[in-house]
Amino acid sequence: MPLKEVSHPAIDIDLRYATNDNLTGQIIYQHAIAFLHKDALAALELAAELAGAQGYRLRVLDAYRPSAAQWRLWAALPNPMFVADPRQGSMHTRGVAVDLTLCDQHGQALDMGTEFDEMTEQSFHGRTDIAPAAQHNRCLLLGLMTAAGWTHHPYEWWHYNLPEPTRYPKLSDEVEGEFLMD
Ligand SMILES: [Zn+2]
Repeated sequence: MPLKEVSHPAIDIDLRYATNDNLTGQIIYQHAIAFLHKDALAALELAAELAGAQGYRLRVLDAYRPSAAQWRLWAALPNPMFVADPRQGSMHTRGVAVDLTLCDQHGQALDMGTEFDEMTEQSFHGRTDIAPAAQHNRCLLLGLMTAAGWTHHPYEWWHYNLPEPTRYPKLSDEVEGEFLMD
């Protein structure tokens, strides 16, 4: 299936695993292209429309994660509390999960109370022990993503996936689907 390149005015791409600015401190991806299954892309574009209508932008921090990259993550941090065991597979290897945050119209990331991939209880949804503005920003992202058809992850404010992700097969490294490019 041919790949389709897409760009959207309200979506920025900042794949942290293509840099060493991630929880492993290592470069995990060889290239910084965000791939998504076409169903996930359609849902992300809808969320971007909703965000853009309020003067916000989505910033994608992770999307499709090749199985080989999941193994590299696991090698760097072999702890199932932090990284999905590659033998089980991650929702990201199905191309139907996205990690993201919100930015204002100047590209400034909104305060979400904790950093991306910060594995503490304060990264859970429904916390009142982070600043009220950060609680508000998380609820904003939750509302935009939920209205666009995504399901949240209770322990990671940044992670959303399509409902029933196991309906989608794990993708090989020859990706079928569409990709977003900065
Ligand atoms: Zn995720």
